[in-house]
Amino acid sequence: MNKRIAVLPGDGIGPEIVAGAVKILQTIETLYGHQFELTYADIGGCATDKTGTPLPNETITICKNSDAILLGAVGGPKWDSLPVEKRPEQGLLKIRKALNLFANLRPTTCYESLAESSPLKKDIIEGVDLIVVRELTGGIYFGTPSERREIDGKPGAVDTLQYKNEEIERVIEKAFEVAKTRSKKITSVDKANVLETSRVWREIANQVAEKYPDVLLEHMLVDNAAMQLIRNPKQFDVIVTENMFGDILSDEASVLTGSLGMLASSSLSEEGPYLYEPIHGSAPDIAGENIANPLATILSTSMMLRLSFQLDKEATVIEEAVNNVLNKGYRTRDILSPNCKIVSTNDMVEAVNKEIFELVASTHAI
Ligand code: NAD
Repeated sequence: MNKRIAVLPGDGIGPEIVAGAVKILQTIETLYGHQFELTYADIGGCATDKTGTPLPNETITICKNSDAILLGAVGGPKWDSLPVEKRPEQGLLKIRKALNLFANLRPTTCYESLAESSPLKKDIIEGVDLIVVRELTGGIYFGTPSERREIDGKPGAVDTLQYKNEEIERVIEKAFEVAKTRSKKITSVDKANVLETSRVWREIANQVAEKYPDVLLEHMLVDNAAMQLIRNPKQFDVIVTENMFGDILSDEASVLTGSLGMLASSSLSEEGPYLYEPIHGSAPDIAGENIANPLATILSTSMMLRLSFQLDKEATVIEEAVNNVLNKGYRTRDILSPNCKIVSTNDMVEAVNKEIFELVASTHAI
């Protein structure tokens, strides 16, 4: 199979973890006889430094001409005091808009070997396997006005939460499609007791549910969902929610597994290309130290192989390799548990790489 992949390492630990994920992709390429043509492009603070904007047009063009996009992370204190339009995070918001990436899928899987790293008790966390589908291009992060202004004659600020019905419908449809492939249960999270956008969200969820009679839909208020995720996360399979609620809940869900460094994500559009990235940020506090956890980015590539290229066998090999490496006790610092071996970013990549070779050799999985 021949595929073009845009690679956007970004800032902070982005280049380190993306280099690791690319190495794994290249191993898959070699072992399974595929050709992945990689084109690198800038996004975030490094793009602002070079071009004055966090998302140069050239990057958008490269992404649009690709079959899938792999992104590291953006941001860092160096750029925090720049005007809003030059800040790295604007690069992220803009690429989501430019590619119409309206649905963000964030799986949270509890690895048995990492249950000890979770802040929750083992019996609560073991067996958790849920996915948050977050609306990504609407809601309060994009609504206007968003500005400082006088309110009742006093200094204040305003942000705007708005959704078109079609924006709600398409992300809920995606979530039902995902639920169909899993245990057929979906929890739609809103704040329908207070917000009009949430009441519309709930109505549309009920309408979409009529098309999927075999999927069970339940509604939950966001404050309850935040509590239930900690109290009994195993009750969830697919959670679908709007942009800001999804931002917060998916980070909360990430803590269940013990580290942000473990969680992959994909952002989907109607027509592609899809974008894959770890859910964590650029971790400027550990950038350049070769200690970042590369597994979320490596797992993002397995999502890419499965969702964009339908390469299920190759995706599974990566996931099994990650699981085996964890079972063997390899740990970056963020997921360290007693009696395990601390390894660097590069060593972790090497361990996964070696495991893939061994798995393929032992199962003749090619
Ligand atoms: P962060 O996710 O970068 O870091 C939070 C904590 O988790 C830090 O202690 C960090 O060291 C640790 N961490 C994160 N990823 C890790 C990994 N792979 N391995 C080991 N430890 C890891 O969040 P933050 O500190 O709030 O933000 C830092 C910068 O990242 C900010 O500029 C923020 O705007 C940006 N950010 C970018 C994205 C993105 O690119 N998608 C997402 C969130 C934050």
